[in-house]
Amino acid sequence: MASKRSIFRLSSQLLAESQTAIRPQPRQCSRAVNINAIRHFSATRQRRLMDLSGFTEEQLTVRDAIQKICAQFPNEYWQQHDQSETDPKELHAALAADGWLGIALPEEFGGAGLGISEATMMLQTISQSGAGMAGAQSIHANVYATQPLAKFGNKEQLESTIPDIISGKTRVCFGVTEPNTGLDTLRLKTSATRQGDKYVITGQKIWITCAQVASKMILLARTTPLEEVTKPSEGLSMFCIDIDKSNPALELKKIKKMGGRAVDANEVFFDHYEVPANTLIGTEGQGFKIILHGMNAERCLLAGEALGLGYAAIEKAAKYAKERVVFGRPIGKNQAIAHPLADAYMNLEAAKLSAYNAARLYDRSTKDKSISQHAVGVACNSAKYLAAEAAFRACERAVMTHGGMGYAAEYDVERYLRECLVPRIAPVSREMILNFVSEKVLDLPRSY
Ligand SMILES: Cc1cc2nc3c(=O)[nH]c(=O)nc-3n(C[C@H](O)[C@H](O)[C@H](O)COP(=O)(O)OP(=O)(O)OC[C@H]3O[C@@H](n4cnc5c(N)ncnc54)[C@H](O)[C@@H]3O)c2cc1C
Repeated sequence: MASKRSIFRLSSQLLAESQTAIRPQPRQCSRAVNINAIRHFSATRQRRLMDLSGFTEEQLTVRDAIQKICAQFPNEYWQQHDQSETDPKELHAALAADGWLGIALPEEFGGAGLGISEATMMLQTISQSGAGMAGAQSIHANVYATQPLAKFGNKEQLESTIPDIISGKTRVCFGVTEPNTGLDTLRLKTSATRQGDKYVITGQKIWITCAQVASKMILLARTTPLEEVTKPSEGLSMFCIDIDKSNPALELKKIKKMGGRAVDANEVFFDHYEVPANTLIGTEGQGFKIILHGMNAERCLLAGEALGLGYAAIEKAAKYAKERVVFGRPIGKNQAIAHPLADAYMNLEAAKLSAYNAARLYDRSTKDKSISQHAVGVACNSAKYLAAEAAFRACERAVMTHGGMGYAAEYDVERYLRECLVPRIAPVSREMILNFVSEKVLDLPRSY
């Protein structure tokens, strides 16, 4: 029962305090409490659209506690941060203060030792609170990008990084995408060349979320040129590097974007940027295999984030449809309004089952070798696809249900619609997931 023990470490006192104040200073959670104590302090569960049957006690506990933290950050907070493009550092601090950034990190380094099943619930709850993708993205790399680090990093690397990530002192970003290779990740061009006790990095990344506020990057770079490897998946390596903004060999350029504007997205330029050789995680040349570990986790978290946004949108739409009276009747009395919302809800529920099944397989596969990595990959990709599509449908219908008010920032659903496109595009597009399933499940010829 390691996982249960771990979650009890999130003290009830801290959870209670988090109701009233945002503590800027991170602190360690160490006192043992029992699950009933946590539930005692949790908010009375409101009637929510999402069916909660079948979730584990741990998942429900996470949900209650995260809801309570997020209640400090109402929709107005997210509207303002979206409009002013200001980092939601208070949410990051509040989650760090209560130890939540270590939800899926090992207990021996201060984490809760829970799994991606609980982390997905955490990210969904953040998104569903109205924080949307912006709120979730402000912390999600700290959860998924650290998975390969925790699994493949050596003791020294873990001791020097994980506690600071959990306490919130260090924020992490994930550097994979490149402007010239896009989804063809294996052909990425950023190189890391070993020179004595350091690596010299040269190349360009794009769309790197939170690079402005992060001090570490989990980086995928090529250590052996493509021409010299037998398979493109070889010769890539994973690093956990410092982001030293004062170093002229590193440049960050913020990208103006459509949604999730509270979190920054960046172009990152490396021009002979030197990092110590001990920033290499695992074996040189095995980076792609290593990073896949984080990518499957990321798909589950993104699925959760999309679901959160979808449920938030549909909840707002149902409320509005009950209240708004036109032609002398609530608009929700019209089946043209009610049916699309019912349909969107059912799609969210189906995607929810897929997402939590994928997360469960991901977690169990570490101990149960009968669960193949192929099965995990298919489940995680499918879940991300289905959740992203369901969220899009829900957000689009929520805007249409609101009529003109759907276009007003005050009603939030326009923000949700802008943000819900992200899980359709990233970290892998829906087209590439369809390609993957066509080839790897249906055994159809590869199309690209
Ligand atoms: C808000 C946001 C945040 C992001 N955060 C990060 C981050 O933190 N770190 C990071 O590394 N990356 C990040 N990304 C990048 C994201 O993962 C990529 O944008 C995504 O993987 C798509 O790659 P691309 O933009 O290069 O698209 P491209 O590869 O240029 O593809 C363009 C279009 O063509 C389609 N396409 C391409 N090839 C095929 C094919 N063979 N068959 C069918 N269709 C095809 C794609 O599906 C897509 O619709 C982020 C992106 C966004 C928008």
